[in-house]
Amino acid sequence: MARLISPVNPFAGIQAGYDEADYVVLGFPYDQTSTYRFGSRNAPQAVREASLNLETYSPRTGLFLENLKIRDLGDLEVSVENPFVELSQTLGGIFRDGKFPVVLGGEHSLTYSAAKALPDDVTLLIFDAHLDLKDIYEGRRFSHTTYLRRLSEELKAERFFVVGVRAMSSEEFEYARGRNIRYLPSRQILREGLGWALRKLEEWLEGNPRLYISFDMDVFDPCYAPAASNPEPEGLSPTLLLDIVEGLAPHAQQIVGFDLVEFSPAHDNGVTALLAAKIIFEVLCLVEAAGYGRRK
Ligand code: MN
Ligand code: MN
Repeated sequence: MARLISPVNPFAGIQAGYDEADYVVLGFPYDQTSTYRFGSRNAPQAVREASLNLETYSPRTGLFLENLKIRDLGDLEVSVENPFVELSQTLGGIFRDGKFPVVLGGEHSLTYSAAKALPDDVTLLIFDAHLDLKDIYEGRRFSHTTYLRRLSEELKAERFFVVGVRAMSSEEFEYARGRNIRYLPSRQILREGLGWALRKLEEWLEGNPRLYISFDMDVFDPCYAPAASNPEPEGLSPTLLLDIVEGLAPHAQQIVGFDLVEFSPAHDNGVTALLAAKIIFEVLCLVEAAGYGRRK
């Protein structure tokens, strides 16, 4: 059984009892396959600290975060042997308990384990500057930049959609085209606008009404998230990203959980940590406003 390390400060200073909680925060401080800026293992604690310095009012929903039933389990102790199996097992337990997980990475490879723990009919909406579809990178078949390739070998292409893409190798470009892997380039979103992006996503959602969302912090323009682990210019703004999530929430019959990954606090001036915490605040309130608490 995986061991949990209690948080020094629980997320947003809220700590409901596990049984009554709707939302469960879990840190996964793992960055062993990082290839540029290391240190995302320190992100869960940095995001928790930032979360204590935000007001809890959600302007999009009118809710106050402290009225949501949130339990912060702390960080999963990352073992040398099989941290990803332990993460899948822990997340599987959270889903079985009928709760909504929020996973604080760590690097993007954790989304592979999250997908393994998801109920079969759940699809993945991924916000990322990159496709993460490389076959092998720096000798590794499994890493933060190959995780979606590995998933794509096991899941049908309809099961995932990447939003905000603007960086890929020729290998990834050809693979995505050959496998008909869907993505929305950030350039096209910025040019065509929110309504266009929502229409594209709603078409996809018609056959895939249950969603798990993954936020790679490099989807944001580096001016908003300077401490992304692999920053990439010409990204989305926080407002546009949250508008997309807000626009989708009524169309997704259910959002079942999300993760937030690829933040390296050593490179931060404080802004990235606050943005990460804010994204979590707002997405939780959007999910609550869409009726998560009543659906159980
Ligand atoms: Mn990624
Ligand atoms: Mn990325």
